[in-house]
Amino acid sequence: MKKFADKTVLVTGGSRGIGAAITRRFVEEGANVAFTYNHSKEKALALSATLNKSGGKTIAIQANSAIPNDVTQAVEQTVKEFGGIDILVNNAGIYIGKPFEDHTLEDYDEIMAVNVRAVYVASQAAVKYMPAGGRIITIGSNMGDNAVGPQTTLYTMSKSSLQGFTRGLARDLGSKKITVDLVQPGPVDTDMNPAGTELANFLLSRMALAEYGTGDDIAGLVSFLASQEGKYITGSFLTIDGGFNA
Ligand code: NDP
Repeated sequence: MKKFADKTVLVTGGSRGIGAAITRRFVEEGANVAFTYNHSKEKALALSATLNKSGGKTIAIQANSAIPNDVTQAVEQTVKEFGGIDILVNNAGIYIGKPFEDHTLEDYDEIMAVNVRAVYVASQAAVKYMPAGGRIITIGSNMGDNAVGPQTTLYTMSKSSLQGFTRGLARDLGSKKITVDLVQPGPVDTDMNPAGTELANFLLSRMALAEYGTGDDIAGLVSFLASQEGKYITGSFLTIDGGFNA
């Protein structure tokens, strides 16, 4: 029997990048997977169709993480389609980098709405349905511990606040035997942070392994945390960054 054969997973932001890799991994390991997208409708529908063709059970849900009602509805739709929710992966995220003086209140509101508020809203909506053994896994960033350089204030602030969220919620949900953890990737080759750029060369110079990570690297860790083997890990931050923060 596959590892997640009787499990339902919701991944936010599964249309591209790390979220798409996490979606693929859970499908390969037997789970029913609902995933959200915002702008990338074609990519989301193509991913879902490909996975379903090869025997997977997926649905792609249009849900803007910046809109709380969209997030709640995505949880409700997952439960309606698959009969429950066992694992929530809060992956959707955005990066806004610019000189501090140029940040606007709109930038602040947008990044906090997507990177932080949506995580809070999705978790609260999912917990209503989550059984013992449930998992809440959020994708933070190694920048939660290490602001890499200038122009990162907003993003770093948003990812650090996920640490407080993870600590608190792990204690709130411990009695329900639901674990809550934060995965903190370093540079991963996606649209958000493509390898082969000038910035990438700078980032590589700071890493012990001097190579970009892949979505699959992150999906492997998420899968481990979500499995039975991860049952004693909660309130933890797992940094997976090729030694960037070493
Ligand atoms: P990408 O930009 O490649 O993909 C982002 C994904 O999030 C897309 O599927 C996108 O969907 C979705 N998304 C963005 N905004 C929204 C929104 N408002 N509502 C719903 N979905 C949304 O990013 P990555 O895959 O690189 O990043 C995934 C996560 O990993 C993020 O939380 C990011 O902060 C984190 N991370 C990434 C690192 C990296 O180096 N790549 C390093 C550390 C952390 P759509 O296209 O449909 O709008």
